[in-house]
Amino acid sequence: MREESQEVSQAALFHGPNSPWEIRTAQRRTPENSEILVKVLLCSICGSDLHTICGRRHAHTPAILGHEIVGQIVQFGPLAPRTDLAGNHLNIDDRIVWTIVANCGKCFFCQHDLPQKCIQGYKYGHQQVQNDSAWHGGFASHCTLMAGTHIVKLPEEIDERSAGPLSCATATIAAAIRTANLVGQETILILGAGMLGLTACAFAHEQSPRNIVCIERDTHRRQLAKQFGAMSTAEPNSMTLDPNDSIIPYGFDVVLECSGTNDGALEALRLARTGGRIILVGAVFPSHPAPIVLETIVRKQLSIHGVHNYQSQDLLAAVEFMTQHHRDFPFAQLIEHCYGLEDIQRAINSAQDPRNIRVAIRP
Ligand SMILES: [Zn+2]
Ligand SMILES: [Zn+2]
Repeated sequence: MREESQEVSQAALFHGPNSPWEIRTAQRRTPENSEILVKVLLCSICGSDLHTICGRRHAHTPAILGHEIVGQIVQFGPLAPRTDLAGNHLNIDDRIVWTIVANCGKCFFCQHDLPQKCIQGYKYGHQQVQNDSAWHGGFASHCTLMAGTHIVKLPEEIDERSAGPLSCATATIAAAIRTANLVGQETILILGAGMLGLTACAFAHEQSPRNIVCIERDTHRRQLAKQFGAMSTAEPNSMTLDPNDSIIPYGFDVVLECSGTNDGALEALRLARTGGRIILVGAVFPSHPAPIVLETIVRKQLSIHGVHNYQSQDLLAAVEFMTQHHRDFPFAQLIEHCYGLEDIQRAINSAQDPRNIRVAIRP
């Protein structure tokens, strides 16, 4: 499995929106201290990568993007951790995923259960390349994990395509579901049926809900939502609340906003019941302000939570969920197309096609 003969690594460098990608080759890094060198097996292209590539989000360049990474351990630094979050021993050749943010564990935010907001945190696949060998993104043949990264080993039965989104979309939904604190027999509305929304349907399905409705504009995605556990689907702005409806007379107990649009957030406010909980997950790039009537929040006594990334325990929950349910929902089929590193531009074009939920790089 290892390629000791070729001691080089390759990466696709992002130089900004509309600039061509650069394929750079460099001497492969020998991990130091707590670092672990990982071979990238697959990296799925997240919606937030596309926001950066299109310029909707600013990034310092050059950067190695890609943070939904499945890796295989190549080499441990002398002080690197040898156990994962579940207490499993880590070995060379193990397939792993890891937290999107390496965190210090000591700062204000780390001490307040917000490791993803660590003051000294390092976010994989988001930051400027500082030197030619310390690469920390997924659009590369290798990635160096640094101190403060929490790792989860993948069971053999999990397909790499199902595992790609674990360290971003899946773990974020695990965090959203934890925040929603579902108690069973509740009515759940999911807005959007991209990777976040479909994953939310699947997680919600396993929480003994009374009903799950998914609202999505695209016909194909509405069909997918049903395969992922939605009991019914609707087009945006087509649902009206009916006090005579036996299941959802007054609105939904819980709304998970995964579309990231202002319209989605407004639908969430309209369709949540009085006393309902709204979890906002999808809006991860700057948008125009949404025209929200504050009185709605007050009179309906709504609880509104934003969820951005996750704690390490959510990544563990995501892997456990995928281990249990990868046969119940067609996660692997959501990545239909994989491209080599040299085809990165084609991969990005393909990822921008709304028919594709996820596209992946296999370096
Ligand atoms: Zn992401
Ligand atoms: Zn910290």
